[in-house]
Amino acid sequence: MTEADLAFREEAKAWLRANVPREPQPEDGVAMREFDMTWQAKQYEGGWAGISWPEEYGGRALSSLRQMIWHEEYARAGGPKIGTGFVGVNDAGPTLMLHGTEAQKRKHLPRILRGEEVWAQGYSEPGAGSDLAAMSTAGVVDGDDIVVTGEKIWTSYADISDFQELLVRTNPDAPKHQGITWLICPLDPRPPGLTVQPIETISGPRHLCRVTYDGVRIPRTNVVGEIDAGWHVVSSSLYLKRGTGRIADQVSLARAVEDLIELARLPGPVGGPPPIEDDEIARRLATARAEVAALRAMTYVELSRVDRNGTPGAEGSMGRIFHGELGQRVRLLAMDVLGPNALEMAPEGRRDWVKEYLWSFTETIGGGTSDIQRSVIGERVLGLPRDR
Ligand SMILES: Cc1cc2nc3c(=O)[nH]c(=O)nc-3n(C[C@H](O)[C@H](O)[C@H](O)COP(=O)(O)OP(=O)(O)OC[C@H]3O[C@@H](n4cnc5c(N)ncnc54)[C@H](O)[C@@H]3O)c2cc1C
Repeated sequence: MTEADLAFREEAKAWLRANVPREPQPEDGVAMREFDMTWQAKQYEGGWAGISWPEEYGGRALSSLRQMIWHEEYARAGGPKIGTGFVGVNDAGPTLMLHGTEAQKRKHLPRILRGEEVWAQGYSEPGAGSDLAAMSTAGVVDGDDIVVTGEKIWTSYADISDFQELLVRTNPDAPKHQGITWLICPLDPRPPGLTVQPIETISGPRHLCRVTYDGVRIPRTNVVGEIDAGWHVVSSSLYLKRGTGRIADQVSLARAVEDLIELARLPGPVGGPPPIEDDEIARRLATARAEVAALRAMTYVELSRVDRNGTPGAEGSMGRIFHGELGQRVRLLAMDVLGPNALEMAPEGRRDWVKEYLWSFTETIGGGTSDIQRSVIGERVLGLPRDR
């Protein structure tokens, strides 16, 4: 790191110390959106949103390394999870930058950074998750519109979003990976024929949704990339999600490990010695701390590659798998440190390891399961034969 990078870190630290919200982040619904967007607007006003985004779209055009420094200090300062801003800032925004028209970029990018637009991702369908290209939601070109009919599932925050990244099949006769189109679908106000239904889950918060489309008309000007060339658009955006987009989560994981070490130093769950005095617990905590350091090193390597080549590559899947599985190991370890106390949720205002444990199961599913990412690494990084 240069002197300027170090000075940037100090500046970020000072701003965060003065501005990170102290009240708890709501877990779902309109209250969560309002909390997240107010905080996003504050970061924008302070000059801390879109650090590596181009200046003409409201960013600061600094390096990905500076972006990483910001995420590190952000998590250290206990900044809230990006929450409802995730798809807009980490996925739709970068995708529009790569593939959008100038009009689309000017319309959406500054609003995403200023906290005025929430985005959701409409990729998965009941019959198409890992095998995303099997999707069948139809998009029929009709004059200046594309008429959409079908169903998407597991769309996070669709109930409170303004726009959705929507994949539709515009050419059913083309080979599977061709004939797909990437559309900007408005969600608020809801276009006629579009319905959003929240889905209940075991971990509590309601943010996953089912979205159905019954002849929904979307203007052709909302196509991102070319008609029938959506697979190319989606592939790069999935890499973004698997790669650099997850830095803040990785840094929070590092913080979780440090918090867990502190917890393990306190007296045991039923008045016994502190759990850290158990050799096996101590060994697992030490391993987790070392693995977090390894994850950080992998992310730095990946970021310097992005800075050199401009776009992230399939290597992002390595960090993603390691991060997801490490997150699960850490939360399982937390259950062992808590012992019998893991049988109840934490009181309001305290870190809830039980909820985190339940949530951790999603870490190797959302954005592509570990099995699929192993195939990506095998085929595109190691050059092994393709999965039949
Ligand atoms: C918290 C969360 C949030 C999500 N948010 C969104 C969202 O906002 N938008 C969205 O579109 N989707 C979202 N998803 C959906 C997610 O992308 C899918 O769940 C995921 O892609 C897996 O698809 P599936 O659930 O249909 O499982 P399936 O594809 O049916 O997989 C079932 C099992 O089979 C395995 N498997 C499947 N194919 C292969 C293969 N070829 N080789 C080896 N193993 C295989 C999988 O690894 C998995 O273990 C979210 C999911 C979660 C958990």
